[in-house]
Amino acid sequence: MSALERSLRERFGARLRVDHPLAELTSFKIGGPADLFLLAEDEDELAAALTLARRHDVPAFCLGAGTNLLISDRGIRGLVVKLGAAFGAITIDGVAVSAGAAAQFGDVARLTAARGLAGLEFGEGIPGTVGGGLVMNAGAFGGEMARVVTAVHGVDQDGARRRLPSEQIGFAYRRTSLPRGFVITRADFHLAPGDTAALDARVREIHARRLARQPRDLPNAGSVFKNPPQAFAGRLLEAAGLKGVRQGGAAFSECHANFIVNLGGARAADVRALIDLARDRVKVQTGITLETEVRLVGEW
Ligand SMILES: Cc1cc2nc3c(=O)[nH]c(=O)nc-3n(C[C@H](O)[C@H](O)[C@H](O)COP(=O)(O)OP(=O)(O)OC[C@H]3O[C@@H](n4cnc5c(N)ncnc54)[C@H](O)[C@@H]3O)c2cc1C
Repeated sequence: MSALERSLRERFGARLRVDHPLAELTSFKIGGPADLFLLAEDEDELAAALTLARRHDVPAFCLGAGTNLLISDRGIRGLVVKLGAAFGAITIDGVAVSAGAAAQFGDVARLTAARGLAGLEFGEGIPGTVGGGLVMNAGAFGGEMARVVTAVHGVDQDGARRRLPSEQIGFAYRRTSLPRGFVITRADFHLAPGDTAALDARVREIHARRLARQPRDLPNAGSVFKNPPQAFAGRLLEAAGLKGVRQGGAAFSECHANFIVNLGGARAADVRALIDLARDRVKVQTGITLETEVRLVGEW
């Protein structure tokens, strides 16, 4: 038993999991176990777990809904923390909305639209949590998190509670520059008053466009690559003949070339091989180097 496991065991007892399987906690349904896994029920627990990991010099990783992750077949070394249901509260006060990091982003989008608040409709159909959406600066259909977030609250790797105003989040295209090890617990949004019927229509339109464009029947992690400047990754991948190309249990979707789907029993190594193949082909054909949007995490 490692020193960290002993310390966490003293604090959390049987709730600390060892060699905890992670595949089912991801939308890809792929990946090995976490050495140590904890579902933090409140901020004190989160702060205690992060502090202990830091004290023992062991990395801690926060898992959201796992919808943008490719976890390696060997899994994640160190501690994986997931936020429990208590981090899922959503409060609305006029145009100010505060959402817990574990709330489903799509729920926040639909709820605010239904209350006549404009700004988060783009989140309809983006799976995952508010925390993951913030870290990824999630966006679609012309909207993105960066435009509506005023501040995030969280716990840093030393266990200290901090509030970071929007300008300290370092928003960029599908990424942020939050302090290393910072775990978001809650986010504040500033929305605009809007017409409920028009917002509802927009949410329905986005829903329909997603259904028409994206594979829904097989496990995946959304767009694999970011769009390079002035181009669409999906078009480049399609032009490179990758639609339907298969490796082991994984394949580029027939429906959208920028999605890799798990046909059943796919391993992370299969997906990784497809990513490498696509990057090489597109580079040779166009000179463009594609960057992954999906985060590869764990021990490769
Ligand atoms: C079908 C499908 C469609 C998608 N469509 C879109 C789309 O249109 N636009 C888009 O932007 N994305 C899209 N995605 C990708 C994904 O849904 C988003 O990136 C989402 O915001 C990730 O949230 P998550 O909770 O699943 O985060 P995870 O995948 O669990 O984690 C992503 C990153 O965030 C970190 N993280 C998660 N929670 C926290 C926290 N509380 N504090 C600190 N770090 C945290 C993780 O450590 C990791 O680095 C799609 C995915 C799928 C499967």
